[in-house]
Amino acid sequence: MSSTTWIRNASWVVGWDAARDRHVYMRDADVVFRDGVLVHVGRGYAGSADVIVEGKDRLILPGFVNIHSHPTSEPLLRGLTEETKSRKLGMSTLYEYTVLVGRSNYTTTLAESQAARDNPQIYQDDDARMAAGQIAMWEMLKSGVTTFVDYSPNRAGWIDEALATGMRVCLAPSFRSGYWYTRNGHEVLYAFDEAAGRRAFDEALALLDQVARHPSDRLFGMVAPGQIDTCTADLLQDARDASRERGLPMTLHAAQSVVEFREMVRRHGKTPIEWLESLGLLAPNFIIGHAIFIDEHSWIAWPEKRDLGRNADSGSHVAHCPHNFVRGGVVLQDFGRYRAAGINIGLGTDTYPHNFVDEMRWAAILGKVAARDAHATKVEDVFHAGTVGGARALQRDDIGRLAPGCKADVVVVDCNHPMMQPLRDPLRSFIFSALERPITDVYVGGRQVVRGGEVLTIDVTRAGAILTAGQQRALERVPDKDWAGRTADEAFPLALETV
Ligand SMILES: [Zn+2]
Repeated sequence: MSSTTWIRNASWVVGWDAARDRHVYMRDADVVFRDGVLVHVGRGYAGSADVIVEGKDRLILPGFVNIHSHPTSEPLLRGLTEETKSRKLGMSTLYEYTVLVGRSNYTTTLAESQAARDNPQIYQDDDARMAAGQIAMWEMLKSGVTTFVDYSPNRAGWIDEALATGMRVCLAPSFRSGYWYTRNGHEVLYAFDEAAGRRAFDEALALLDQVARHPSDRLFGMVAPGQIDTCTADLLQDARDASRERGLPMTLHAAQSVVEFREMVRRHGKTPIEWLESLGLLAPNFIIGHAIFIDEHSWIAWPEKRDLGRNADSGSHVAHCPHNFVRGGVVLQDFGRYRAAGINIGLGTDTYPHNFVDEMRWAAILGKVAARDAHATKVEDVFHAGTVGGARALQRDDIGRLAPGCKADVVVVDCNHPMMQPLRDPLRSFIFSALERPITDVYVGGRQVVRGGEVLTIDVTRAGAILTAGQQRALERVPDKDWAGRTADEAFPLALETV
């Protein structure tokens, strides 16, 4: 049965000006959707509606598009990795610390990982992972995310779980040929099992084909090998071919650490971006997470400056996740320059929290810091990245904007919230002051998933306790996994001394 919702006379609407390819403020406008699709955005709706929502003192935004997240693992690291970084490994957490709590070896298929459950080297705590995912997705919905990429190892029941959130989900089942480890905290080594990587790749493609056949229009897929340094050239090229045959986007972690940059030079005599180019991966369907350590980054001291051009000329996109990196003192250099070079940027929540408005704020501020120029990256730029930029990276022209014919993915912000006052410039107040707090309602495909600030599709009341217990189980294993045999409290000291 057809149903029309009319957000009537909204004080502020961020609409889409297609001719100028940018978001614009509209005043006292109507936003109308029917059967999951926007049918009117602007003044003067003259039709009827089944549901009328008064828009006075409301700011109406397009739902946010989160193009990079690991919801079932990252929340487990809360309280551990914010400030614990490897000083001898380029201020990364990946090689020495994330592996202590996360799964150190995920080259496996579902069946293999089930069988390996009791192996202390393979962290596989399904209860904790499920709770982490629930909390992460709840955080995303609270902060206005309506579409997100779940870049994770395959898991049982994933499709049903994604559907239950009510969100638009891009399933990105990860696979790789090997994993990294360190024996001393200053050298990263790799263990490869190419056959296992192939099995996981085949399983990922089977899942993606299942997603493509699924009748729900809220599911789509992406080909998602893990990291540039953990995948063989053959696997990456076969993944590339599979993505193009299926018309799917593809992503890969690349240029994400100093260690990885040096490793690519050691193996191939090329920068990470240069090696991707030589493999034929850089293309308009390719998203680089995170393209920070390109040749001209100040921490690299490389004599050439060609990576930005390689990225831009190929039409590849960047998944920019500033909050994760800045906690290690690492920044993209810089958002404004990448954009000026012609690179499309989308945003992601690579770490906890999964607060997308906060991620936009980091992107805006760090864009200014890295450029030493307050005008280098502005709210319009990061809002574009968090909406249309992300949508383009995912090959979608029907999300990330409020325009007739697009999906009815809509966020309602209460302009009466004290942190939005005085209300002169609602988007600046939202991103610099209020963050997600004034978001009251979120619709995905016209269906309400947040009402009055409450997430309707996810019950997080139990998730926190399950996650805490799961993190405790993981921490008990830390001495067995840490190269130095440290306890969890030694490896991850608390912020303050306890007396
Ligand atoms: Zn990531």
